[in-house]
Formats: sequence, C-alpha cells, structure tokens
Amino acid sequence: MRRRLSLFALLAAGCSRVVSPAAPDAAPDAASDVTLAEDDADADADTDAPAKDVGPDVPAVEPCADGLTRCDDVCVDRDASPAHCGACGNACATGERCEAGACASICPAGQTDCDGACRDLSGDRANCGACGSLCSTGQSCVEGACVLVCAAGRSNCGGRCVDLMTAGDNCGACERRCATGTRCMAGVCRGDPCGPTDTAAGRCDGNAVVRCVDGAVAREACGFGEVCAQAAGAAPACAPPTGPRRVTGRVTFQLRPVGPSGVMSARMDPLVGAPVELIDAMGRVVVQALTDEAGAYALGHAEPDGAMLRVRVTLGRGDAHYNFVVRDYMNAAYAFTTAPFAVTAADARDVAIPFEGNSGAAAIYTSVRRAFDFLEPYLTARPAALYVTWQRGRATGTMNSSYFVGASSTMFINGSEADPDEFDPSVISHEFGHYVQRWYSRTSNPGGPHDGRPADPNLAFGEGGASFLGSLITGSRYYIDAGVTRLRILQDLQSIPFNRAYAADPAQPIEQPLSEWLVAGTQYAMFRASTDTDQQVGRAMRVLTGYLRRNPYPDRGEVGVDLVEYLDGYLCVNAGAERATIMSYLVTQRRFPYDFGYMAVCR
Ligand SMILES: [Zn+2]
Repeated sequence: MRRRLSLFALLAAGCSRVVSPAAPDAAPDAASDVTLAEDDADADADTDAPAKDVGPDVPAVEPCADGLTRCDDVCVDRDASPAHCGACGNACATGERCEAGACASICPAGQTDCDGACRDLSGDRANCGACGSLCSTGQSCVEGACVLVCAAGRSNCGGRCVDLMTAGDNCGACERRCATGTRCMAGVCRGDPCGPTDTAAGRCDGNAVVRCVDGAVAREACGFGEVCAQAAGAAPACAPPTGPRRVTGRVTFQLRPVGPSGVMSARMDPLVGAPVELIDAMGRVVVQALTDEAGAYALGHAEPDGAMLRVRVTLGRGDAHYNFVVRDYMNAAYAFTTAPFAVTAADARDVAIPFEGNSGAAAIYTSVRRAFDFLEPYLTARPAALYVTWQRGRATGTMNSSYFVGASSTMFINGSEADPDEFDPSVISHEFGHYVQRWYSRTSNPGGPHDGRPADPNLAFGEGGASFLGSLITGSRYYIDAGVTRLRILQDLQSIPFNRAYAADPAQPIEQPLSEWLVAGTQYAMFRASTDTDQQVGRAMRVLTGYLRRNPYPDRGEVGVDLVEYLDGYLCVNAGAERATIMSYLVTQRRFPYDFGYMAVCR
C-alpha cells in the first residue's frame, strides 16, 4: 500500500511541474495535500519539490547559506545531497546515500537493500542469495544457497535428516538398508541371536557382511555396485567386484525411431544406465552394476565352476540420482532375465529386448533417464520419486493420450496399438515437464482435454510449458506424437503456423484464452534469442525453478500461474533479457497485449 501511495505522490508532483510551470505555488500544495493526508513519509520527500519548482522563476541569484553550494539554482549541502553528492550533478544510485560528499550504500558492508531493509543475502532464510528468495521449511541459508541443515547427530541422506544409528534404510551410512528381519542398532543392522557360523570377524552372506556383535547378528548390506568379498586371511568387506571370474555382455532394446519426417525403420539401441544383477540359484543377488554408454556391463564374481547363475536387467532404482521406475499395471518393475547358465571363468551374456518382449519399457526408461540428466543441475537433493506406468497395447482413460497425475507422481504412458507413445521422446519428455512443474516449479493447470486451440491460460501455460521443457530435454524443436504408420501431431516450435488459433486478440485483456502452442512458441523464441544454449536454458530454468517456485510474485493475468507471470519473472530475474523478442514475436506478430507492466517494479 505504501508503495502505491508513493508512486501516486511522485506522479502528482511530476505532472504539476509539467502542466503548471507558471503557477509553482499551487502545484506543490496539491501534491502536499495528497501526501500529508495519506502518508507522512512522502511529505518529507515532497518538501524538496517546491524549492526546485520555484527555482527557475526566481530571477536574482542569491548567495547560499554557509556550507551550502548552488547546484541547478538550488542551494544544496554537497556533503549530504543524494542528487549532488560531492559535486553538482553527481547523483547517487538507488540504494545509496550521500555521506561526507561520497555515495555509500545505505546498508552496511555485506548487506543488501531489500525493499528498504538491509539484509545479509548470504545467511538470511527469507532473502537467500537474492531479495525475496525464501528457503523451504527445514532449509537454512548458507553462503547464499538454501541447504538442508541437520541437527547434531543427524545426517542429510537424499534431502532428509536421518539418524544413521537407528534408521533402517540408512543404517551406518546413507542408503545402506537393513535386510528384512533385522533392525538398525548403533549404526549396524542387528537381527537374531548369533548362531555357530556367526563370528566377530564376520562372513559374506549373499551381498551383505554378517557379523556377531554383542551376541546378535549384525547384517550390513553392500552398497549398489559393491559385492561382499573375503580374501584369504582377511575379514569380509563390501567392495567393488574384483572376483576372478567375470560375466560380461551388452543390453540392447528394439525401438521404432521417429523424426519430423515420420516413423523410421526399427533398430536396436543400447540400454544405458540400467541396473544389471547376477542372480544365484537361490535367487540372491551376487553382484550389481550399471550398463555404460554402450549398454555394456561387466560383473566380477567368485562363484565356483558349474554354479548356476542368471543375469537380470531391471528398469529403475539403480542409481540414486534417477529416482524412477518403469512398471506395469500390477506396479511391478520391468525386469529382463536370461536363462540360467553354468559358471565358467568368463561368460558372455547379451540381453536383447524385442518389441514383443516389452522393449517399449526400455525406450521409456531411456527417455526418462535423459530427462533426469537435464534436471540434475537444478536439484539440491535426491529427486522426488517418479513412477512410470506402461503396458504394451494398453491405454487408460477415455482420452487416447498420455498424462501425468501429480498426486501420485505417476506418468501414464499410453501404449495403445493405434498410438504407442512409448517410442515418442517428445510425449514422454512433455509428461516429465509436468513432473518438473509439480515438484520444482509451480502449476495451476486444471488438466483436461486440450487440442491446441485457445484455452484457459493456466491450462495453456501448463501444457505449452510442458512441451517447451520437453523440447529442451530432447534437444529438438519438434514436438512429435507418432502413430504406428503416420504422425498424429507434428509441431515445430520454431515456426508455429500463423492462424487465428495460434494468435491472440490485442483488444482482449492479458487474461484472455490462449493456445498452448502460442505459449510454447513464445518460450522457444525467447530460448532461441541467443546461440548460447546453456545460458538460455539457465534463464528459463531460473524462472521456473526459482522465481515461480519461491518468490511471492504478483499474480497478474488470469488467477494462477500463466504466461504473464512467466514473462514477468523472466524479465525480472534475467535483467530484461529477451525483451525485444517478446515484443517482436509475442506482441507484434502474435498480437498478445503483454504490457511489460511488472518490469518497472521488479526486484
Ligand atoms: Zn500435458
């Protein structure tokens, strides 16, 4: 409220100078009346105005009082005047004052002026790194960044504060999980009373070290990619596999690539970053590893000759940085297991997943994993869990399309025969865009059908924004939804067609219905404004994951987050960057009456 009054007072004062130069007495009075009646603070500011206004009309130059100097026909104290600090015309910047003839920050060293208050941006939870940037509950501001700080005796495990001495899923170390039937005591998983084979030195049991501690069985599961190994004369320990024997191979899956020209012929691609396990005859995991960039894996082990083993590839939960699983309608994660084979010194077992063997799940895994790679730089903790539900030839709901359910953080990929989305990176990345909006930005998307024609601005921003994020993830300007034989939707974000559906009405207000493609096209045009891709992605993500998520920003346009807040935030946090693009692309070509209205007051 105070801000509004100040602006009004300034406007009133400013106008009076222009319209009534010959009647200086009347104008300042009018301004004074307004400010005195509504806000005492502004009256002080306006007391300078009459002196300035009167100045030009005073014919004779009179000497200034002691200690004052004439600047622009006004007597000022150059030791203290912010407009003439030290010298006539040397004005101090906003947030500075004039002290002993030198401009100095209003705030002491190390502090910043946040809307009139001096704040330490390096340690203020409400202004962390930037004015108005608020840390979430449980986070502290450390060196200008919001971080989870745990109390004494507790540790940060994937964004949660846990007691490593007692936490069953983080026992002794983060992500060290106690086996069923045991519990975490003093940082060690404990179970039944010790039996004859349980010793203080311990033994390997599957992929865990089992010791006898104070008369109870202590079981320490090995971390991912580690194996329990015991060299002769040494105590057993978890370590990366160095067994004398190896199982190697390559995991590939069949996919149907799509591009802007349509569906291409099927091919085999490597499955990257998938967990691979060696399973013994008892069903226990002997050793685990992840496939590399070529889909290759190598599992060292010490199983004896002739022992029966299998290789199992699972779609999810291999690496803590990729917190997702691809599963069927029974919520079972997809897994691909080889036939049992008898161990020799060196075994080779490739896993090739065909269409009929659910290669669609592997294609989805590949797209979602790439999406997590994109998101990773913007995360401060382990990502929120994501579930991806898909079954070949099956579709849910009445809409023949994929969708994301925020409440359960589940992405449903439609696998219908007519429109198998599992091979469409655009569709999968669009749904991942909704996951980003849900957990790391802000959304007011009411959901429901949408076909690209002008719709509710919240829906248009949710859907267009998801397609824009999808294009950043795939690195492609095209949004492609392919059917079996032909493309169902092909939209080039770099050249959205010019027609009424994809343009706005300049006579309507900024909360008018909008096309999702107008939203995506605008965001993409702003992204393309510079060839520095990293910089442009950073600018967009700063708005989505910073400004929109944290800041208490003014809600202009339609109630809820929409294109207007995105533009407001973009101009604000990126210091006006892409203003020219917004003007030429959105306002001039697409005729959307964006007013740049927030830019003048953003901070
Ligand atoms: Zn969507």
